[in-house]
Amino acid sequence: MAVETAWVGRLVSREHKREDTVISVGKATIGGPHLTVIAGPCAVESREQVLNAARLVKASGATILRGGAFKPRTSPYSFQGLGKEGLAYLAEAGQKTGLPVVSEVIEAGDVPLVSQYVDILQIGSRNMQNYALLRRVGKSSRPVLLKRGLAATMEEWLLAAEYIMDAGNPAVILCERGIRTYETATRNTLDLGAVPVVKALSHLPIIVDPSHATGNSAYVLPLAKAALGAGADGLMVEVHPCPRQALCDGDQSLSPEEFKELMDQVRRLSGALGRGVVKP
Ligand code: PEP
Ligand code: MN
Repeated sequence: MAVETAWVGRLVSREHKREDTVISVGKATIGGPHLTVIAGPCAVESREQVLNAARLVKASGATILRGGAFKPRTSPYSFQGLGKEGLAYLAEAGQKTGLPVVSEVIEAGDVPLVSQYVDILQIGSRNMQNYALLRRVGKSSRPVLLKRGLAATMEEWLLAAEYIMDAGNPAVILCERGIRTYETATRNTLDLGAVPVVKALSHLPIIVDPSHATGNSAYVLPLAKAALGAGADGLMVEVHPCPRQALCDGDQSLSPEEFKELMDQVRRLSGALGRGVVKP
């Protein structure tokens, strides 16, 4: 594999640090024996929507709440998120449920603002190689969830993590969310091979997002289970109180009932995998 000859990552590498990195956020941990499930809507749409989502994902056992406030949309005419107002609703929902929260930051200049409201800063797929943004979140004291670029090799992805670590932030969580291939039956192609490869090359935790990987709620559960079987440290799943009414990514969002079923199955699987039970 090219990584063997071209690999120049230092801080991200297993050679640099042999033990798995475990990142603690509030009562949640990412990496280590417990599986982490991050769940919530693609976008914060209203105070009520994100509060409902937070309560329902918490009731089913999610450990971290997600919700986008700055949305990087393919079309400039699509819903772009509620911005600062959305961050405030997300933070309130996190406080009311006791769940730490994660949200995407799309501009380096927004890092201080977003950091005021969230526990984890998300770098989206489209910005994985935005080096100014990577360096800026590298200066933050918040952990960073770094999604794999839509057409990024594992080496490029790990070197993006290296930028964050080199700038001073050791708390990076990798998230595999599918890559673009010739296949169109799913939104992206989930690269589960990334999980054992990242585990071999790096000490950083890796989670899998089967929602953006498939674009279809019907395929989320089987790939969530496959991801955990492959050794992922957790999942990031889109859940909406009413997916049909979602302003963003409704087709891939799980309903409350579907998410409950997913969590029941994850809990059963976690025992078989020896990863401990996801905390209810
Ligand atoms: C998201 O998780 O909200 C998102 C936009 O995903 P991605 O960056 O993986 O497309
Ligand atoms: Mn989404």
